[in-house]
This record gives sequence, C-alpha cells and structure tokens, in this order.
Amino acid sequence: MTEWADMVDVYGRADEVPRLLAQAAEVTDMRAPVWDELWSRLCHQGSVAPASYAALPALVGMARSRPDVAVDPALHLAAAIIGAMDAPAGAGSERGEHAVEIAALRELAWRKVRLVEARTDVIWTLLAVAAVEDLGVWSSHLDALVDGEIEVDCPSCAEPACVEVVDGVLVVVDGEGEADGIAVREAEPGEMGAAEARLLELCRVHGHEGVAGELRQLFGRVPCPHCGEVFWLAEALS
Ligand SMILES: [Zn+2]
Repeated sequence: MTEWADMVDVYGRADEVPRLLAQAAEVTDMRAPVWDELWSRLCHQGSVAPASYAALPALVGMARSRPDVAVDPALHLAAAIIGAMDAPAGAGSERGEHAVEIAALRELAWRKVRLVEARTDVIWTLLAVAAVEDLGVWSSHLDALVDGEIEVDCPSCAEPACVEVVDGVLVVVDGEGEADGIAVREAEPGEMGAAEARLLELCRVHGHEGVAGELRQLFGRVPCPHCGEVFWLAEALS
C-alpha cells in the first residue's frame, strides 16, 4: 500500500495524488484540468519527486486499460517521469526499480507510433519512446520541435543562438533578430548514433516522413550565427 500522506510530490505533501489519479483514470483528454494538476505535481518542467515514481504503476495501469487511445496522457506523463532530466538524489537506480513499468510503457509507446497521424502527436509519441528507451538527449528534448524554438549557447563562443522551426525547416538566428536565419545542416546516415537511427527507423516504418525530415535536421549541425563555428545541436542541448 502506498502511503501517499508520508510522501512528497514536486510541490509538497502528496496526499492529493491518489484522488487525482482516480479521477484521471476516466479522462483521456491531455488538456483536462486533472491532467494539468497531475503534471504539475508529478513532473513539473522536468522535475520529479518520490510520489512521481510511486504513481507509475497507476499510470501504467490506466494506459494499459485503453490501448486504442492514440494520445494517452497517462502514457505521456509516465514516460516523462521516466525520462525526467532533474530526478531527485539517488534516482539513478529508478530505471532498474521500475523495469516492469518501463517494459509495459515500451510496448504501449510502440503501439502509439502506429496510431498517431498529426505531426505534433507523432513528435510527442516519439518523445515517449525516447524516454522509455533511454535515447539520451532526445528523452527530454524532442518536444523542442513542437515548441518551434530551441535556445542553445554556442559551445565555441558561448553566445546564445536560437533554432527556429519554420514549416518543417530548421534555421538558426542570432537571438537578437539581426541576422537572417541560416539553415541547419541535416545529419547524414553515417553521422548518426543509435538513438537517432532508432527514431528515424520508427518514422520510416510507420510512414511519418514529414517528422523524419525535421528529425534529420534536429540531429544535424548548426552554424553559429556569431562566430561561424559549426556544432552538433545534440551536444549543445546535453
Ligand atoms: Zn559561436
């Protein structure tokens, strides 16, 4: 039995979490207030807390009970907790301790890649796959494509640059609106690691060609608008 009252979520005592989970079990709309509140308490801007991990079995149970929902907030929240950048101290072993939930989430996330169609849904679903498969920097940064703006500091001159997504094309600007956008250099197959190849393969198998084109740019190199040095976007994000 989980002792929620003795546990903390991102904001404080976690005693509201079981009530919210029970309510959320009936709700599949990601924008519903109950899911907003669960996201705030369990995975707020990449921060998680002990209650986040305690909620995983309930979230996985929910997602398993409705496998045909293409975009299920239960799956996305669980995956975000697993992929959280800012885990509490000692959470390095969390993947091992939650191997059963992660295996279930993996199956579910794979299924969803087949079900989704809209660009944003495809990206969110690939983000969930990246989180449960532990695909490095992409476990927490793939949604940058949805946001349409990726802010990085040039590893060479440390000046800020902003990569913008305009109709499927990634361009880098200097962040001050002074220079025209410069196109990001797409990664070639031989330049990609296993994580990148894995995400592109999922796109290929399930016909998400448009998103694959954006990913090849996201996995590519950025010419710094300040100093001209060319750097890998993945390195600047990590
Ligand atoms: Zn630079």
